[in-house]
Amino acid sequence: MKKKINLYFSLVTAAAILATLLLSLFVSYDVIENQVTEEIRSYAYMIRNIYNSGDMIDWEGFGASQEDVRITVVEKDGSVIYDNLADREMMDNHGQRKEIVEALGSGEGFAVRNSDTLSENLFYYAVKTNDGKVIRVAKQTSNILGLFGRIIPVLIGVAALLFIACAVIARKITDRLVSPIVDVSHHMDDIESVEIYDELRPFMETIRKQHEDILRNATMRQDFTANVTHELKTPLTSISGYAELMENKLVDEDNIVNFASAIHKNADRLLTLINDIIRLSELDYMQTEPEFDDVDLFSAVQSSVRLLELNAASHDVTVRTGGSAQIIHANKQMLEELIYNLCDNAIRYNKPGGTVEVTVYRDRRGAVLSVKDDGIGIPKEHQTRIFERFYRVDKSRSKERGGTGLGLAIVKHIAQVHGASLEVISEPGAGTQIIVIFR
Ligand code: ADP
Repeated sequence: MKKKINLYFSLVTAAAILATLLLSLFVSYDVIENQVTEEIRSYAYMIRNIYNSGDMIDWEGFGASQEDVRITVVEKDGSVIYDNLADREMMDNHGQRKEIVEALGSGEGFAVRNSDTLSENLFYYAVKTNDGKVIRVAKQTSNILGLFGRIIPVLIGVAALLFIACAVIARKITDRLVSPIVDVSHHMDDIESVEIYDELRPFMETIRKQHEDILRNATMRQDFTANVTHELKTPLTSISGYAELMENKLVDEDNIVNFASAIHKNADRLLTLINDIIRLSELDYMQTEPEFDDVDLFSAVQSSVRLLELNAASHDVTVRTGGSAQIIHANKQMLEELIYNLCDNAIRYNKPGGTVEVTVYRDRRGAVLSVKDDGIGIPKEHQTRIFERFYRVDKSRSKERGGTGLGLAIVKHIAQVHGASLEVISEPGAGTQIIVIFR
């Protein structure tokens, strides 16, 4: 970027310098032209006035004293009577020259002609005398090309100096423009301490937030990996321990069944854990957007609840559904998974004879799913944390009830994908209500 800015700056500077030089050249040429014209005009008038006053001019003597002007006197018919620089015998009839024609007509005439060398211009001013002759004064001056030729080396020198000065300034400016950005890239973890200009602030704010997100994600991932390892280790250690005891014939015949059942339970637990972990990482690393359709929230509730019938019966919990069809834009499979996890919790953290009410309705916030139980409830201080991965209010109770601590993390993830919000209303001993609002 620095190189680009410098290049553009240099190009603009060069163009500006060139334009200024050309303009000043034309302006100065115009000034010179006016000056010369004025000079020869007043000179021509002066000579004419002397002539008109009747004082006979000694042309030869007069002309000889003039070196840089040429004076020509022309008769009415165009024949040259006198010229101080050229031999009048050799001069052809001047009756057709523009300035002479004009002077013979209106009293005065003016013309500029390029000389053969092209680097010189000839300025002519002609005036008519009282007796009908024409006095013409001419002066040679450098034309624009000539002027160029002479001052080009100076111009190049000045332009080069200007250009170098501008290039140095441009470099300084780009350095100052770019340095905060470079500074920031070296101090990503402490962006606050870097001095930046106001225009860069929103950009920096975004980068800072992204950087924080990346750090947070990295920490979360580390924590998650540590938790997963720990969670997997516990049942495996038990399985290995029981199996070793059996292998060494340290378990008597009567207890073999109990040991086998403990191994079975722990293996099941491992499987559930692994399934939930796989599901979460699938959600985390979803490559493509899930497919969304118009789905009836109420039918989704009914099919999820059907899957839990046996589970509910074994816990002696009654599940009731209520409400009306509500069409929402959702991924059907994910939606059923969310409902399943919420109802599964409401059944597991319930007491025998308890009930679960699943209701679907619409209010001013959108389509609402409410899963309400009259189970053990969640103490206030845990309510905000239950959606964290592996967070359990009562670790041993959760494990004993077959929980992994990942069910609500999956619910939260699915809700996020659907832009839905979650609410927890719970009272220990009285029950829990979890509300999902699809906007
Ligand atoms: P788990 O697999 O342990 O159930 P979840 O992520 O589903 O994990 O839930 C996290 C914790 O939140 C649970 O361990 C439990 O303590 C609490 N919890 C979730 N749902 C309920 C509920 N309906 N009633 C009481 N506690 C609940």
